[in-house]
Amino acid sequence: MEWDHWCGGRSLHDIMPNYKFRNPLVKSYLKDNCWAIPPSTPYLLLNEIVGINIIEQPRVTWDGAVNPSFSTFYTSFFTHLEEVSWHKFIWHKRKSLRFSAYAWMALLGKLKTADLLLMKGINVLSDCSFCSTGSDNHSHLFFACDFSYSVIISLLPPLEVFLLRPNLLQTFEFFEDSQEFCCWEKIFCYFTICSSIYFLWRERNTRRFDNVWKSPTLLCGIIRLQAILAKVKNWKHYDDLNRRFDINR
Ligand SMILES: [Zn+2]
Repeated sequence: MEWDHWCGGRSLHDIMPNYKFRNPLVKSYLKDNCWAIPPSTPYLLLNEIVGINIIEQPRVTWDGAVNPSFSTFYTSFFTHLEEVSWHKFIWHKRKSLRFSAYAWMALLGKLKTADLLLMKGINVLSDCSFCSTGSDNHSHLFFACDFSYSVIISLLPPLEVFLLRPNLLQTFEFFEDSQEFCCWEKIFCYFTICSSIYFLWRERNTRRFDNVWKSPTLLCGIIRLQAILAKVKNWKHYDDLNRRFDINR
């Protein structure tokens, strides 16, 4: 009753925030197609409600959509946000929330890398935990570092064509722009990059905080088993993907 925007685009709560209706449904205040508002209702609200001719306008419809779906509400909710070009790499239909969440943070530069912590005055080791010659920052970890680059090209050999090490966005865009991959092959590559980010970040943390190290070969095996095979074997095109990317090697 008080939360939906059915009074000239406003809700009754907007008009009088402190007043609570006993029953939450508008239909509870209708009788024989006429308003049956309790006499104790504040005049300000009463005036708004009886001003609506309920016989002529018996329902509220969504502006601009005759048959609104969930996406209508969803899109409307986020209209004020700028659409980024890379959302399809992260939030595609075959995403895994855990991997995509880390990939999203990596693309935004929001993982807690040493360079960011040092800028905040937190004293941490600045060296890369994989190679010790680079620095612990987003561009080095994804994928300037020898270690992480060897992992990603082992999982996705087409990336070997780069003369210089690609950054994260270039890695995604390489597959997006390529004519050699069809739609579901591109989704597979996006998924593989996202899962690699997650496992590389975990490996970086276990090296840093637990002093436990895995080789690139072992880490690739874990990504294949725990991410790619675990998810992709249920995909419709698994056999084709396996032939093209040698998933089950
Ligand atoms: Zn490194």
